[in-house]
Amino acid sequence: MSKLDDAQKTELHLLDAALSLHHEQANKPGAAFMHCQECGIDIPKQRRDAVKNCSTCVECQSLIEIQQQHYRA
Ligand SMILES: [Zn+2]
Repeated sequence: MSKLDDAQKTELHLLDAALSLHHEQANKPGAAFMHCQECGIDIPKQRRDAVKNCSTCVECQSLIEIQQQHYRA
């Protein structure tokens, strides 16, 4: 086995660990989302700080609220 293979394996292992950690954090209830769960754009830090546990950007949130109002009516 070459040293390069070892390095690649270590890198993959670290990537796996980072990914599973990321998924754990993402699935944690109350975890703040970095990206809009509807359209995937970055949620500005200001919004994440202002709205606890927000999972969507301002645009998607307002669309969701309009939809909810529509369903309620
Ligand atoms: Zn969005």
